[in-house]
Amino acid sequence: GNLPADLEAFWMPFTANRQFKSKPRLMVSAKDMHFTDADGRQILDATAGLWCVNAGHCRPKIIEAVSQQVATLDFAPTFQWGHPKAFELAERLVKWLPDGEYSHVFFGNSGSEAVESALKIAIAYHRIRGEGTRQRLIGRERGYHGVNFGGISVGGIAPVRKFFGSLLTGVDHLPHTHNLEHQAFSKGQPDWGAHLADDLERLVALHDASNIAAVIVEPIAGSTGVLIPPKGYLQRLREICDKYGILLIFDEVITGFGRLGSAFAAEHFGVMPDLITVAKGITNGTVPMGAVFVRKGIYDAFMHGPDNAIELFHGYTYSGHPVACAAALATLDTYEEEGLFQRTKELSDYWQEAVHSLRDRPHVIDVRNLGLVAGIELESIPGKPTARAFECFLKAFDKGMMIRTTGDIIALSPPLIIEKSHIDQIVEILSDVLGEID
Ligand code: PMP
Repeated sequence: GNLPADLEAFWMPFTANRQFKSKPRLMVSAKDMHFTDADGRQILDATAGLWCVNAGHCRPKIIEAVSQQVATLDFAPTFQWGHPKAFELAERLVKWLPDGEYSHVFFGNSGSEAVESALKIAIAYHRIRGEGTRQRLIGRERGYHGVNFGGISVGGIAPVRKFFGSLLTGVDHLPHTHNLEHQAFSKGQPDWGAHLADDLERLVALHDASNIAAVIVEPIAGSTGVLIPPKGYLQRLREICDKYGILLIFDEVITGFGRLGSAFAAEHFGVMPDLITVAKGITNGTVPMGAVFVRKGIYDAFMHGPDNAIELFHGYTYSGHPVACAAALATLDTYEEEGLFQRTKELSDYWQEAVHSLRDRPHVIDVRNLGLVAGIELESIPGKPTARAFECFLKAFDKGMMIRTTGDIIALSPPLIIEKSHIDQIVEILSDVLGEID
């Protein structure tokens, strides 16, 4: 749909930079797997909004829960008081984790806020325990942890860090694990993942473990192109963190809530971090919410450590907002009642075969997938590192499909209610689009 002139006048294109001069497309409604745009066209949603609408759009149970909540208790400050749904939600969330060791949940409003909160919890944890020098943080190249200053500091997108100048100090980045040449070389080397994670030992030797608070990684990097770590990588990070008392944070804003076929990637990879950040799928994209799952030992340190209430101030006006909690509870019901995570597991072979059929299409240099997520990497035109994928984005939209691109990688993450016929349609449209671009 065309943007009305008056709306265009108010549009502040921060994220939508000059590449998007072609104007945003207007969506006016959505249902299950589809958006309807301003021209009345049905647009197949191959990205679950922004990796968040895992149960599909406008689900009746969630609509009902949100409507009822806003009419009953529209707001309740959670600083000194609470409200029942916040407790109920926290209890249900931690029960989804396998070993029951995550005892508490901190609520915020977004993935970015969850990340900031997790970093602060990690630093505060060491301080409370009298290990005040532990405040260095370690992220990973090509990691994405939202857009707030902590998140971009630990985030692995160097141009963003550089552009914004003064960030958190004392931050290092592990090398990213995704390199097509390495992948070819490492085939048949079972210890490759552990070998890459051993870079953490180098940072420990450089800075001394007593100065390092936490390591934060996405179990699979989503926003920078669906980068799946080699086997053994996350396990070895866990081992090294344990060895030195460094906290391990998994940023599961994308991988949480079923995308890989289990509730969380921690379960999928069999590695339990100390803190888990989530957002997006927690409310099925309906109402903003983010959260941090905290291991019992960390909670205990906060509750039994020195009473420094002033220094430990952290929380948002909308932490544990009743409407977000109601939306999240109805979302969890929907995931459970419809068995959507199991469904994801069952569909993942079909998905794998379908997306890999694109491997031989023009410009495609790599296809990777897990659960119901995929990355299709294109060879870039020299000097134009995003042009091909962006062209695909535009052409796919013209053919009635929403995809996401990052660099020259097409990222797919459809709602988990997807049918095989939709998967066929996604692949058919992409196959056509790849044949049409230069
Ligand atoms: N962490 C990860 C892994 C993400 O993918 C995102 C969003 N794409 C964020 C954090 C930030 O979340 P939000 O946009 O809700 O602030």
